[in-house]
Amino acid sequence: MGDREGLLRQALDLLAGPGLRLLRISNLYETEPVGLARQPWFLNLVAEFETDLPPLELLQRAQQAELALGRTRTIPNGPRTVDIDILLYGPLVLETEALTIPHPRYHERRFVLAPLAELNPQLHDPRTGTTVKELLHGLQGQAVTLRLERNP
Ligand code: ADP
Ligand code: MG
Repeated sequence: MGDREGLLRQALDLLAGPGLRLLRISNLYETEPVGLARQPWFLNLVAEFETDLPPLELLQRAQQAELALGRTRTIPNGPRTVDIDILLYGPLVLETEALTIPHPRYHERRFVLAPLAELNPQLHDPRTGTTVKELLHGLQGQAVTLRLERNP
């Protein structure tokens, strides 16, 4: 919701800090909402970071940034200012109440796989060994358009 590009830029600025350094970002992708269709299209990107933060501290950093940008959790999959998810954390596989890595649904979402493939199509899913490129080619449907040729 709101100034979507501006919010993405602010989210990246809020995330970077002690223990977390931004390396690369994908282009922006405009995405049809899944499930709840009667809402504005989402704007998505994938970013690569280098970090010393353990996974749960990384999640806290992400949630602090979401809160700072005014995210309230009302309707699941509904409109929001910003949603920050941890997709992969190197080769780590983690399953706790608060955090699952790799992200449990990233492999079925074109709006994740398309920008992720832009950064590294040969990345392997540490659970299955499947590459991002293979996951993307295996998908059907889901409208996603490359929105800009430049980063925010
Ligand atoms: P969604 O991202 O599916 O729209 P939320 O952002 O509301 O939903 O996330 C709900 C919860 O998912 C978070 O409170 C967090 O504890 C949990 N979670 C589990 N795995 C992850 C992950 N890899 N990245 C981000 N959140 C995660
Ligand atoms: Mg989330």
